[in-house]
Amino acid sequence: MAEAKKPKREKIPRQEMPRQAPEVRRRNFNEVALGYPDELMILESKRCLQCKKPKCIEGCPVEVDIPAFILKLQEGDLPGAAAALYADNNLPAICGRVCPQETQCEAVCVLAKKEEPVAVGRLERYVADWKMSQGMKAPDYVDGWRISQDTEAPEKAPPSGKRVAVVGSGPAGLTCAADLARYGHQVTIFEALHAPGGVLVYGIPEFRLPKAIVYAEVDYVKSLGAELILDCVIGKTLTLDDVFDDGYEAVFLGTGAGLPMFMNIPGENYNGVYSANEFLTRVNLMKGYLFPEWDTPVRIGRRVAVVGGGNVAMDAARCSMRLGADEVLIVYRRSRVELPARAEEAENAEEEGIVFHYLTNPVEIYGDDNGWVRGMKCIQMELGEPDASGRRRPVPIEGSEFDLDVDTVIMALGTRPNPMVFTDAGGLERTRWGTVVADEVTGRTTREGVWAGGDIVTGAATVISAMGAGKTAAADMDRYLRGESTTWWEPEEETAQA
Ligand code: FAD
Ligand code: SF4
Repeated sequence: MAEAKKPKREKIPRQEMPRQAPEVRRRNFNEVALGYPDELMILESKRCLQCKKPKCIEGCPVEVDIPAFILKLQEGDLPGAAAALYADNNLPAICGRVCPQETQCEAVCVLAKKEEPVAVGRLERYVADWKMSQGMKAPDYVDGWRISQDTEAPEKAPPSGKRVAVVGSGPAGLTCAADLARYGHQVTIFEALHAPGGVLVYGIPEFRLPKAIVYAEVDYVKSLGAELILDCVIGKTLTLDDVFDDGYEAVFLGTGAGLPMFMNIPGENYNGVYSANEFLTRVNLMKGYLFPEWDTPVRIGRRVAVVGGGNVAMDAARCSMRLGADEVLIVYRRSRVELPARAEEAENAEEEGIVFHYLTNPVEIYGDDNGWVRGMKCIQMELGEPDASGRRRPVPIEGSEFDLDVDTVIMALGTRPNPMVFTDAGGLERTRWGTVVADEVTGRTTREGVWAGGDIVTGAATVISAMGAGKTAAADMDRYLRGESTTWWEPEEETAQA
């Protein structure tokens, strides 16, 4: 008898996630993307083919077993899905919201070859939010922040008796701390600011990543046993040597790249010019968006120009719109194709009425008699040969200068590591860009006992790459602390350029 034909897979289109309407959300700070309702999650999970050799896992820097957690969703087993997801990812509610999935796991999903990839991030968010609703519920953080103790304790190795320090509580530090705690070490996180989370709380706005979600995931890391010390600047409050003298046997540096860069053009000192970091910190961390309930207003003009094309620029532009600006412009020196922001966020910004000036570069900022911004001179650009980054180099078109009528300019041009952490920290080599030299495979720096990862090593990058670096370093720190790998790393000569 002829073998029965395998039934054809029902073709289900990728499920869109409900969002606030653009005309409504452009003036409020509530979360834009609303998450999948149950029925859309079920449909989306059914799209996963459960490939025998899944590519999506390799596409994820923390190697989440994506098919495993989606299989549990297909089976209707939410606790199973959460267990599979949290086994590899300590911060899935965050990753589900802000990871650039289109260039990571979703980019290599086999479905992407013929149709749209499985919406891995949206499913991840669904599972993490469900898990939070089951006991990792975020408390009300509106008037500051607090850490609840009501999370269940996950599996951990027996105590090793070793004390380790993690400097910085961004995604790199939190991931490293969580894994070190799971390995059984006594972990202390030292954080310079009065709230944990790094860019996740001071940079990424509430409407993309609610702070209650970040604090709930910080709670989870704390529930693993990690201690958190706030308002402690390493390099000022304590030096790295103080930390070792205090009995810590290993240190992970995850202090990010929070030092803003400027263009060095005339007029950058006028009132009304912000770095995106300062602007976003005032809006998010200092709760400027909650004025007048919070007495921390942020001045925003009538016409705002944001210079840059990354996620930071999109966030600054979208915050400006929500704070009441009449018109918000993005001024970017390359074309739409090279825009480094997450595709979804650039689309959201366009829908909210933000106007994009591509192939445009500022050359001067004009000020009025009182020292306030009154306009910006720009020049048209064209794309030349590719530069070191592989992207085509923007070249100014002679004689194409024109003026933009703006009264606020926000510079979102990229950032470098803040050198503070290196004060009195001998033995740590840095590159000419101010990033710390570290082994890609282990995260070891040029000073024995010190590891580093995240933006402090790579320069401004992504949440998931910082998490991947934190995870890699934690595994190597564990090997070192257990005496399994004590020969220290030395960089190749050309890597270390202090
Ligand atoms: P950070 O998140 O910068 O955390 C470093 C922490 O160390 C901070 O809390 C800081 O206060 C603390 N610290 C610094 N110096 C000291 C010291 N001396 N002592 C003690 N503590 C110290 N990535 C994405 O993947 N998706 C996005 O959508 C996205 N949007 C972004 C939007 C904005 C506005 C910004 C600025 C970045 C965005 N990124 C995004 C990039 C991403 O947030 C970063 O790559 C990531 O946060 C880096 O993590 P990190 O842990 O290395 O550093
Ligand atoms: Fe599912 Fe895509 Fe991963 Fe295959 S590659 S297992 S279809 S998510």
